Amino acid sequence: MTNNPTFPLWIKDPLAIFAAGAERGIVVANGRIVEKVSAGRSPAMPDVKTFDAGEHVVLPGLINAHHHFYQTLTRAVPAALDRELFPWLTALYPIWARLTPEALDLAMTLAMAELMLSGCTTTTDHHYVFPAGVEDGIDIEVRAAQRLGLRVLLTRGSMNLSQRDGGLPPDSVVQDEDTILADSERVVKRYHDARPDAMVQIALAPCSPFSVTTSLMRATAELAQRLDVRLHTHLAETEDENRFCHELYKCRPLDYLEDCGWLNARTWLAHGIHFTPDEIKRLARAGTAVAHCPCSNQTLASGACPVCAMEEAGMHVGLGVDGSASNDASNLMQEVRAAFLVQRARYGVKKVSHQDALRWATKGSAACVGRADIGAIDVGALADLAMFKLDELRFSGSGDPLAALVLCGAHRADRLMVGGRWIVERGEIPGLDLQDLMRRHAAAARKLQAGS
Ligand SMILES: [Zn+2]
Repeated sequence: MTNNPTFPLWIKDPLAIFAAGAERGIVVANGRIVEKVSAGRSPAMPDVKTFDAGEHVVLPGLINAHHHFYQTLTRAVPAALDRELFPWLTALYPIWARLTPEALDLAMTLAMAELMLSGCTTTTDHHYVFPAGVEDGIDIEVRAAQRLGLRVLLTRGSMNLSQRDGGLPPDSVVQDEDTILADSERVVKRYHDARPDAMVQIALAPCSPFSVTTSLMRATAELAQRLDVRLHTHLAETEDENRFCHELYKCRPLDYLEDCGWLNARTWLAHGIHFTPDEIKRLARAGTAVAHCPCSNQTLASGACPVCAMEEAGMHVGLGVDGSASNDASNLMQEVRAAFLVQRARYGVKKVSHQDALRWATKGSAACVGRADIGAIDVGALADLAMFKLDELRFSGSGDPLAALVLCGAHRADRLMVGGRWIVERGEIPGLDLQDLMRRHAAAARKLQAGS
């Protein structure tokens, strides 16, 4: 099997596939899905090569709608254990202030490798820490993504409200507004690809109401509109945030968001836990999407996103693993299971199925990143696929293969295709020495946490 097939490829007779009318598989050509092959049929396209998918469950590639790659350097940090969001952040900010370009490159590469091996074909990253010496964090990130062949929507994050001005982060991790806006425009112009088959896109992402000024929130919304890129931030994650907004801005977080010019279809929000029913209606009318991050929300005891209420109101909801300091893994397939469990516990068996959880991580997340060409196995969609084998102890004796992925806890993809190109084969990323990467990443994490 070549790594990069240029001929039409029939992914033939899958064990199961998350698509209607494709019982005998799909045909991929020129980076796209060109044909679904229904039961009893063969491909209409002549001269197809075949890949026997008889042992594979085939999904649209999973899409990760929220993450902070750099946080893979601060997983399970003792000083941050057993804390809620605000004290958790204040324990970690001083460590993050010591980031170096080398550590960041290792963190980003490792996070993306971890995502890929969990079935993720498109990821976002919310990078908002730019201490002195790491001003080109997004450039480092684009290079790492291109090396791995993963499709990305990288967000140029920002913080400019430090403790000196009543914010949460220390002075050493924030930048001034002019620097942030200039670099935001630079990275969009340099890297954002607006074409339908884009591999790299950029969005703008001030971190949160408690770390960014109103002026920067408004200016970022205007810049995103002028450059026609998406907007992302954290919102309605905790009750602390509600109290903070009330004290500083005399309103609730969603009112503040609207006041800043963000309540529109260009925006997707991470978390979205503490919204009222009326606020959910306002979000739905505006076309604003939400990335549900169940593992992070459970770890920090933040609550749970009201996913079914949001979907019933007409909102799009995707899934994100969130930063690896609050999850602390970057495994998107495990996040699907977590979302299934959290939402089923909340809404019951009639409203939440394993297929809903898979849909959130595919179509739902595609809406978050503003793309119609990924997230579903449809003719004309990009050939981004995640393929899992059921050959581990946890699957033995399982009935429905698609349900088994979620219910038995699939955690590792056997194959991954992005734009018709294999980027994971037989559970491995060709050309990437994982042992060496882990050794160097762990050394960088130790050094960062020790402060030397
Ligand atoms: Zn986050």
